[in-house]
Amino acid sequence: MKAAPAAQKRLLDLAELDSVVDRLAHRRRTLPELAEIDELSAKVARLATQVIAAETEAGDLAREQAKAEVDVDAVRVRAERDQKRLDSGQVSSPKDLASLQSEIASLHRRQSDLEEVVLEIMERREAADAQATKLSAERDELATTRGGAEDRRDAAFAEIDKEAGEAKAKRATVTADIPADLLALYDKLRDQFGVGAAMLQGGRCLGCRTSLSIAEINRIKAASHDEVIRCEECRRILVRTPESGL
Ligand SMILES: [Zn+2]
Repeated sequence: MKAAPAAQKRLLDLAELDSVVDRLAHRRRTLPELAEIDELSAKVARLATQVIAAETEAGDLAREQAKAEVDVDAVRVRAERDQKRLDSGQVSSPKDLASLQSEIASLHRRQSDLEEVVLEIMERREAADAQATKLSAERDELATTRGGAEDRRDAAFAEIDKEAGEAKAKRATVTADIPADLLALYDKLRDQFGVGAAMLQGGRCLGCRTSLSIAEINRIKAASHDEVIRCEECRRILVRTPESGL
């Protein structure tokens, strides 16, 4: 392949811009905020599940409490009814009176036991409510922290994208100076090696840092200026400049 030396030199400008674009893309992919956001999102999701579990438990206990309160009421109503019968004086037989008094006493014990149960459920319910409130607050705080990290990420993205946009605009100007076949070769090599062209500096390929042999240097010296030279070692396009040491 042949190309004017000026067009070949433009490959170095292109390689420089491409390395800027690559660095920016790498920075975009590896922003510390991305890992931070992932970690916070996992924590927020875990807490959200725990909040639902605590709220479900509190709801179950509220229903259990309502049911136990109905039981307390039923026993209380029965005890009151018995007490009224006792107070009315309608029951006169000593045996019936003793039986009624015994039932009232038994109902009072039962009511007291059931009230204990209600109190115990209430305590568990309050603990579940407090747990749900605490976990919700933690979840909200982490979500706010994540919001901050997302803002920083977006600001960094905007800055990176602006710089990448500028580099790509410059790249378009540079590629306009390069013949299509040379550019195609450069792009192919760039896909393959990351960098498509390198300077020959002091007898060394700056792409793979290999020093060329005397025979190789002599071969390049003998080649015409518009010959497109490739590094024997890394196959990249070797661009000759006054610094090449030829
Ligand atoms: Zn090389």
